[in-house]
Amino acid sequence: MFFWQIAIFSLFSAHKQVFMNRIENLNFTKYIVAIAFVSFILNFIFVQPFYSQSYTVKTLVIDAGHGGKDPGALGKRSYEKDIALKIALKLGEYIKENMPDVNIIYTRKTDIFVELDERADIANRNKADLFISLHMNSNVNKDPFGTSTYVMGMHKAEDNFDVAKRENTVIMYEKDYTLKYEGFDPESPESFIIFSLMQQQFLEQSLDFAGEIQKQFKVRAGRHDRGVHQAGILVLWKTGMPSVLVECGFISNPVEEKYLMTEYGQSIIASAIFRAFRDYKSQIDSKNNFKTGLPKNNVVRKTESSKKPTESNNSKTVEISETDIVYKIQVASSAKPFDPKHKYYKLFTDLEEIKIDNGYKYYTGSTYNYSKITALLSSVQKNISDAFIVAYKNGTKISVNEARKFQKK
Ligand SMILES: [Zn+2]
Repeated sequence: MFFWQIAIFSLFSAHKQVFMNRIENLNFTKYIVAIAFVSFILNFIFVQPFYSQSYTVKTLVIDAGHGGKDPGALGKRSYEKDIALKIALKLGEYIKENMPDVNIIYTRKTDIFVELDERADIANRNKADLFISLHMNSNVNKDPFGTSTYVMGMHKAEDNFDVAKRENTVIMYEKDYTLKYEGFDPESPESFIIFSLMQQQFLEQSLDFAGEIQKQFKVRAGRHDRGVHQAGILVLWKTGMPSVLVECGFISNPVEEKYLMTEYGQSIIASAIFRAFRDYKSQIDSKNNFKTGLPKNNVVRKTESSKKPTESNNSKTVEISETDIVYKIQVASSAKPFDPKHKYYKLFTDLEEIKIDNGYKYYTGSTYNYSKITALLSSVQKNISDAFIVAYKNGTKISVNEARKFQKK
């Protein structure tokens, strides 16, 4: 945030009414658009060259959306807040394991309520370099599915007002929200336009990172790509760093909800975001090397010396990506699909249906961990004595013995 932006912003906030009287003849929206445009131009001239050179990613804030008294969107059998937290913790684990130099800060690690502006404050207090907010999408229609990533921006913001409104109305759980968010009205598209000014200077980086995330979802994780969007997302308003909000899937779509609830689905999503983060960071770092104008020799040496860790990073990444072994417990097979009210759906909240040539198979408990699955099997067998363990590699069924051998390698 630079002085002229602070000046424009505080001037506007403090004297909104006076300004409004003086510019009676001007349409409110046009006025805001004009300020944003001037801000953008000044930004382009003064901020970008300085900012891009010094920017790197040392501290990352992972924000699991909602929590506590705010469940977020409601699925048939799950809450948005619970899935968001599980993905957030997995993402943090993967980064910690593969990129130990990155400092990871969570806005919450348990099921607690955290106010929206506190989430941004946590990031600002810790001088974070990147902010990722994790959410599940929802729609009154059950059909939509897939992933999208949002950045704070006013460009085409009105098109994305539905998602912004849903994610923003959570401030109504907070006391004094009208005071705290300076009269922000989640119901009004015009209300949030002013807020996007603050994130304007990080728009390019935010869009780059958002693009990496969607690329990973589409290319590596096989998810339906609904694209990168700009909208008036309030949780990203006050963060002083590039920031994105990921809608990991539709909790309102029964098939996708099932996927989002499984440990397998959560791992795929977390590892896709992990890879996007790794690629984004390495792009930033290589740009920095280029811009600081190191002599050619230094640059070459640097690349060579960093070769080994990069390779080992890659091989570790494979361990947690969708290409690896997953164990499940098969609890049933059937020529016809189970009715959604089938007792097994009550018995196993993560029941997964897989279509095969001549029918359907039903699984519970996806995990990479063999001892976890054997422990789970003995408890499942109390209800279903003929349940057994199956193994998948790259989404293809293999024998459990083969899977064990792969893991021992
Ligand atoms: Zn949400």
